[in-house]
Amino acid sequence: MCKIHALSVPRAKAPFEKTTIERRELRPDDVLIDIKYCGICHSDIHNAYDEWGGGMFPMVPGHEMAGVVTAVGPKVTKFAVGDRVGVGCFVDSCGECEYCLRGEEQFCTKGVVLSYNSLDYDGNPTYGGYSQKIVVKEDFVVLIPDALDLDVASPLLCAGITTYSPLKKWSAGPGKKVAIVGMGGLGHLAVQFAHAMGAEVTVLSQSLNKKDEARSLGADHYFATSDPATFSALASRFDLILNTVSSNLDMDAYLSMLRVDGTLVNVGAPSQPDKYNVFSLIMHRRSIAGSLVGGIRETQEMLDFSAQHGIAPKIEIIRADQVDEAYGRVLRSDVRYRFVIDMATL
Ligand code: NAP
Ligand code: ZN
Repeated sequence: MCKIHALSVPRAKAPFEKTTIERRELRPDDVLIDIKYCGICHSDIHNAYDEWGGGMFPMVPGHEMAGVVTAVGPKVTKFAVGDRVGVGCFVDSCGECEYCLRGEEQFCTKGVVLSYNSLDYDGNPTYGGYSQKIVVKEDFVVLIPDALDLDVASPLLCAGITTYSPLKKWSAGPGKKVAIVGMGGLGHLAVQFAHAMGAEVTVLSQSLNKKDEARSLGADHYFATSDPATFSALASRFDLILNTVSSNLDMDAYLSMLRVDGTLVNVGAPSQPDKYNVFSLIMHRRSIAGSLVGGIRETQEMLDFSAQHGIAPKIEIIRADQVDEAYGRVLRSDVRYRFVIDMATL
């Protein structure tokens, strides 16, 4: 058992407090990781504010961890002390069900163990990456390629895989018109992935403020959704729309921009249900879908793809005592494009 510092929320919406938590003794297949950086995902805010319900407090959020291995259990084969590694949204799964066997542990039928705000299979609460160290089963750890610095690598562990996975599954690529809705942490990575995959990329953002940056990240077109003319100009345009917005949107307005057989994939996870008119689907054979992060194998593939294609999040590094302020800025869409906590300041 080792005691370490962490940032915790004692109850929903309360400010962060510096606290001490315990990490378990290394099991034979565990690695101990010194967390160097942890990204701030909007899901951390949904959870810390208990917007989705079921919040377990005190809570130590954080599922975009990048760090260095400092010890390994005797049966560990994939990692060695000194390796640069990442941990994302989950830290255990049954390993035996149909989904685990095909590398999609996020859909584990026993229930995937999330990196925080979750109970592990022994019934203990999990604590996430706003902390100095973590102990994780090696099967849930990925290797960060040398080409990626640890600070920029951290947001890839959630924002990266959450956008890479659906873009790949719904075949973003040459000849495909893809729209990315919302250019925040997830959205600005989605633009880079969709561009690297060869798709024609359009950004749909609330304002024109991010236009130049969207272009520099690989967007071919950019429209402001605050302008109603955008929706008529883009009617029946896209094969795929990836919605990364954290709030509810007018689904019918977005569905109207899909071609026949087009798909609107939601990764943004607002706390209230969305509504849509089923005739919009029927009359144009459109689909509406969702996607949850991605499996460990695909996360490694995404990191290697990022290294190969020079894809990296744009980050703003903050100290541990700036997290409350950062949450406020994320909520105001005032982040370009991911806050990353420097754990040395904890
Ligand atoms: P973020 O950095 O806050 O980005 C969200 C973006 O959505 C904002 O930058 C803004 O972009 C746009 N937006 C915000 N409020 C809006 C509104 N009221 N109307 C229209 N657009 C709005 O958040 P994030 O970390 O990328 O996460 C986005 C969502 O994905 C969250 O709900 C999060 O929980 C969810 N998520 C899901 C998964 C999954 O597995 N499905 C994984 C991670 C995160 P513009 O300024 O460009 O308009
Ligand atoms: Zn996340």
